[in-house]
Order: sequence, then structure tokens, then C-alpha cells
Amino acid sequence: MTNAVSTVNPGQQDLDAHALHAVAQYRNFSDLAGKVIFITGAGSGIGRAMANAFAVNGAHLALLDINQELLAQARAELHAVFPTIEVATYLASITDDVAVEQAVNAAQARFGRIDVLLNNAGISANRPTLELAPADWRRAIDINLNGVFYCGQSVARHMVKQGGGVILNIASMYGTVAAPERAAYCASKAAVVMLTKVMAVEWAPSGLRVNALAPGYVQTALVDELVRTGRMDLDALVKRTPARRLGQPHEIATLALFLASDSASYINGQAIVADGGWSSYSYI
Ligand code: NAD
Repeated sequence: MTNAVSTVNPGQQDLDAHALHAVAQYRNFSDLAGKVIFITGAGSGIGRAMANAFAVNGAHLALLDINQELLAQARAELHAVFPTIEVATYLASITDDVAVEQAVNAAQARFGRIDVLLNNAGISANRPTLELAPADWRRAIDINLNGVFYCGQSVARHMVKQGGGVILNIASMYGTVAAPERAAYCASKAAVVMLTKVMAVEWAPSGLRVNALAPGYVQTALVDELVRTGRMDLDALVKRTPARRLGQPHEIATLALFLASDSASYINGQAIVADGGWSSYSYI
């Protein structure tokens, strides 16, 4: 496990396109400034966009991922662009409950608190159900469900002691509606939605808010890989989406900012869907 913590270099001006995009897009949620945000799967896609979004708002970041290279890249870019925030990185798999606890405890020790958990790391698992190998089923459940539980439990232990915090579990619209060839994905994400509700009702009296964010198709490496390997038809997908386009990571990150902020102070135990209208559409 890496626990690289450093303050940013104010001299560097090399804003990368990703971060520039974030600065232009994200609204200012001033109550998030100085907060400590723990993000899993922070090296890529939605997790990385959320790191940018919270950095724009002056939050400090504890980033966890299984990919060392992506973590190092994220840390370097964030350091270069956001000179007033601190960034710590943790190399671990969310499926390893011991490593998760170590990373969470290390972040707690480093920052003194964790205000927001963005429980985001997850994988796709598209396969005809008759052909789905038990090992693939177990892998999807292990990452998409068990990992979310381990991270939520570890962080909530600190949040309950400190008397507050926000957890956002990144589920999927496929946790609320079904699609063929996604047994493990849909089941794991539906379980995340229910896990969210249980955590919310159990921990609300301790001052926590726990919500699920359920995206539709978002243009990330996860979707690119499905298209590249022929497991998804991009044209059909766009045609099927009422918005006639995929979502962008920054659109999910903006919603995460709102849900994590005090603006959402009475929203608890919900699954908020952001899917360009996909799951409401049932015509031909
Ligand atoms: P992505 O593949 O771009 O990024 C996932 C990140 O998680 C990567 O950095 C990867 O290294 C990391 N990761 C994978 N397994 C891990 C593990 N065991 N431990 C720690 N880190 C791990 O994916 P994304 O599209 O950004 O998806 C992020 C989340 O959003 C997932 O939970 C996914 O199910 C959900 N989601 C995505 C879409 C979409 O269309 N992209 C739609 C709905 C929900």
C-alpha cells in the first residue's frame, strides 16, 4: 500500500485538458472547501472526474485505486493544478477488507477526519447468463458489492465517532432496471442500492447521510472497453438514449458535489438516477 501524501507545487501551471474542463464546469459548493474526501477507483473515469470536481471546490483528497500508474498520474496532475489542496494516494483493492481498513485508517490518521466517501470503484460484467462462469460472478459481486460494503463500513466507523459524514455509493441505473446479459452487474448494483438504504436508516441518527448515485451510460474506459470488444453497439446505445448521447464523467461529478454538499442536507437513503432519460423510456 502506498501512502504518498504531499502538498502541491504552486509553481506549476500546466493545466491538463481534464482539469481545465473541470474548472470550467463545476459550480462552487463553498461548504466543501477544506473537507476530506475519500474516493475509491479514483484513477480513472467517474472517480477521477470526482477528484477534479472536489479539488476545484478546495477539498483535500484521499485517493484509492488498484492501479498504481493511474494513481500516480492523478496525484501529479492534481498537484500541478490545485496548489492549495493535499492529495494522499492508497494502492489497494477494495476486495481486500484488511487493506481497505488500513487505507482508511491511514487517511484518518493523516487528515484527522474523513468527511465524504465516494464509494465508486466497480467493473462491468457483461456475459450471457447461461455462460457466466461462477468465478466471473464472484469477481463482480466481490468488487461491486463486497468492496462497497468494506469501504462503507471502515469509513463509517470514523464518521459515526466524529458525529457526521456523507457516503455516496456509485450504483448504476442497472441497479434499478434490468438488462440482458448483466446478471452479476445488475444484481450487484441493485444490492448496492439496498445496502445504501440500510446504511442510511441505521446511521442517520449518528449524523450520516448515505445515498446512491445511479448513472446511465457514461463515456469512460469502462464503456470504451465494452464498445471495443464488441459487447456494446455505440450507435444503438445513443439512439436508445432519449438525450441522444452518452453522459460525461463531469455530469456525474457535478451531481456528486451536490449530494455531498450541505445543499442536499435532507436527502438520505435515496438512489438518484442520472441517465439522460434512459430508464424512463419504454417505447419502441
Ligand atoms: P473506469 O473503469 O473508468 O474506472 C474504474 C476505476 O476503478 C479504475 O481506475 C480502476 O483501476 C479502479 N478499480 C477497479 N477495480 C478496483 C478494485 N478492486 N479496487 C480498487 N480500484 C479498482 O470505470 P467508470 O466508468 O469510471 O465506473 C466507475 C463506477 O461507476 C463503477 O462502479 C461503475 O459500475 C459505475 N458506473 C459506470 C457507468 C458508465 O457508463 N461508465 C454507468 C453506471 C455506473
